[in-house]
Amino acid sequence: MAKNTKNQYIFFSQDVHQQLLKQAKIEQALHYAIENNEISLVYQPQLNKQYKLCGVEALVRWHSSELGFIPPEVFIPIAEQTGLMPKLGQYIMNKSMNEITVLQHKLSTLFSLAINVSVKQFIQLNFFELLMQSIEDFGDKELPLTIEITESLFIESMDVLLPIFEKMKQHQISLALDDFGTGYSSLSMLREAPIDELKIDKSFVDHITENNIDKAMVKSIINMGKNLKMRVLAEGIESLEHAKILSKYGCDLFQGYYISKPLNIKELEVYVNTILKK
Ligand code: C2E
Ligand code: CA
Ligand code: CA
Ligand code: CA
Repeated sequence: MAKNTKNQYIFFSQDVHQQLLKQAKIEQALHYAIENNEISLVYQPQLNKQYKLCGVEALVRWHSSELGFIPPEVFIPIAEQTGLMPKLGQYIMNKSMNEITVLQHKLSTLFSLAINVSVKQFIQLNFFELLMQSIEDFGDKELPLTIEITESLFIESMDVLLPIFEKMKQHQISLALDDFGTGYSSLSMLREAPIDELKIDKSFVDHITENNIDKAMVKSIINMGKNLKMRVLAEGIESLEHAKILSKYGCDLFQGYYISKPLNIKELEVYVNTILKK
């Protein structure tokens, strides 16, 4: 028994050690990545019921020369823990506004840009000022902007968050609640924050074709969003079947592989061009 416990202990501690080592490696490489243009962005189209392009969501990509492709779900939390997030977040904000504004001017068209903002980035002292600076330096006052936040943001006190939300409102910047339904405080958040858009999490959309509970939940979420005068977007749409059901339930906006995978800026240009010609 004692041996067993000991063995388990050794196994566990080696595991943790490996984990920390890997994390330290990623952290180091991430410093390098931000300085050396290893970070890029892709954009996933968002369509309305008429299949019109309404916006794109910017998603960060990191191809590390040293470690290969690392998914955002791995490096964003590390950036958060190690204090790199404000810098990385600023880079993402500047780069996406620049790429999308240049493209829109080139094609004489307008659609919104959604940017994911993590907790540490959002609550840094001058988030709003940096956002405004980014719009001034790289964006366009015409560019409709949405900031996507998750429920984890709401571990922070509302006293800190509400004034920022208020300033965003004054500048017509929308607030989207990402991954809706997956957190534990979704409903209280809807009550307290001026949310403009609900993004129904992919995990609910996945089984709406066959699971009656998921169907009922998605239907209810859409109705609630409507009653609260919010736009409702469903993410993770992978089939026409998904789109049809969601459309029937009154969902406003659609995003997912069935519509388009996230595209780099060159691919997005081709995509927008084909849509404009239709
Ligand atoms: P998210 O914000 O919920 O983004 C949606 C994720 O679902 C993206 O993964 C997207 O590529 C993927 N996706 C979209 N449609 C489909 C579909 O039909 N099927 C499937 N299976 N997946 C789909 P990605 O790009 O790997 O991002 C993962 C998460 O990392 C994001 O989840 C977001 O939380 C975070 N993230 C990504 N980019 C950024 C960023 O620039 N800043 C911050 N703070 N977080 C980011
Ligand atoms: Ca998002
Ligand atoms: Ca999401
Ligand atoms: Ca997600």
